[in-house]
Amino acid sequence: VEDKKKKLLVEKDRQNVWHHVSPYNKDNPAMVVTEAKGSWITDHNGNRLLDGMSGLWCVNVGYGREELALAAYEQMKQMAYAPMIQSHAPAIELAEKINELLDDDYMIFYSNSGSDANEVAFKIARQYHQQNGESLRYKFISRYRAYHGSSMGALSATGQALRKYKYEPLSSGFLHVAPPDNYRRPAGQSVKEYNLRRAEELEEKIIWEQKETIAGIIMEPLITGGGVLIPHPVYVKKVQEICKRHGVLLIIDEVICGFGRTGKMFGHMHYDSRPDIVTMAKGLTSAYLPLSITAVRKDIYETFKNSEENSHFRHVNTFGGNPAACAVALKNIEIIEQENLVSRAAILGDRLEKELEELKDHPYVGDIRSQGFLMGIELVEDKITKEPALAQRVSKIIGECKVNGLIIGKNGDTVAGYNNILTICPPLSSTDEDLDFII
Ligand code: PLP
Repeated sequence: VEDKKKKLLVEKDRQNVWHHVSPYNKDNPAMVVTEAKGSWITDHNGNRLLDGMSGLWCVNVGYGREELALAAYEQMKQMAYAPMIQSHAPAIELAEKINELLDDDYMIFYSNSGSDANEVAFKIARQYHQQNGESLRYKFISRYRAYHGSSMGALSATGQALRKYKYEPLSSGFLHVAPPDNYRRPAGQSVKEYNLRRAEELEEKIIWEQKETIAGIIMEPLITGGGVLIPHPVYVKKVQEICKRHGVLLIIDEVICGFGRTGKMFGHMHYDSRPDIVTMAKGLTSAYLPLSITAVRKDIYETFKNSEENSHFRHVNTFGGNPAACAVALKNIEIIEQENLVSRAAILGDRLEKELEELKDHPYVGDIRSQGFLMGIELVEDKITKEPALAQRVSKIIGECKVNGLIIGKNGDTVAGYNNILTICPPLSSTDEDLDFII
């Protein structure tokens, strides 16, 4: 009876559920996940797999946390909903907590997803410049290979053409520059020189485009989904200087890097940087409920507060700041702090890096790079030419991992031919035994 039920479930899934990004594959139907605990998920056939991608880089505290379920339950019983035109205790407490974590003074705007949080950042940036009498500043610069979300503005900021070309025209005013990709830097340039050069190219773009038209730069502390590209610290420092020099806002997308993933509470904290706007989602609630934040420096907010005719930020979303989601976020942050998951990420990541060191001798492994508990393994056909590994080779490895009980990711940018980076991003709560298993 159980077997029949399971088969029916898979059949109904095929008939009714349109899956994200995946093409229809008649031989390989989507896995139906039935249970999840710690770092492990169970599928409809009872197979247990270690989720080496934390879902979509998001279940930072691991699965099956009863205290998060209870936080949602208690809040829903007490008061299930209030729009953010009003306010409520969980939203207020969470805003205060986020400021404590950012160690700075921000106003907290709530939405539902990482894409939403970035859209809000773009709108606030444009209106801010208008209110400062700089209404020509409407353009945003981001980097090729970066992913910033799926809605029209966030997709416009995304620097991966294959995700975009069927949905054009997207929002206007989004420009792109190349990110530092240290593994593929020109011969003869040191990593530092190369990173400085990439930052200079960004400044050249601002100047060529006429600096008075640039509203903001959006970037992740390191490019995650585009293939784990970790900049040299001089790059971030220089970009920050450039933003300041030209009156451009620096928007840091912490949707993946936030909440401990990189071994600091936020990724930008590796670089002594002070962003104007910080966006966060995923690890904010460890994906137990949808919630995102656009944190905006208070002096930017002041221009809204003080502007006489134009102080409205005309943006509302129904679910943003949902009380249960805020209560879950508070409890999730409490777990991250109490269990020291930020330093745990650094410890786990260091050990993973050390133990996989010997993979560097493998003929198909071009580069291994990681920060905190987030790793990319770049596969190549040839270590000298660095030709990206063939798609079927990458898929075969992912498939073999899955057969052996481990889910890992495949990232990069297909158009550029770099969909050859294996990604590993397990829950920060993973045990030593979980890590042994991954290794
Ligand atoms: N920004 C980054 C860096 C992301 O990786 C993602 C999603 O993967 C987003 C934004 C969009 O977040 P969401 O899928 O919640 O809209």
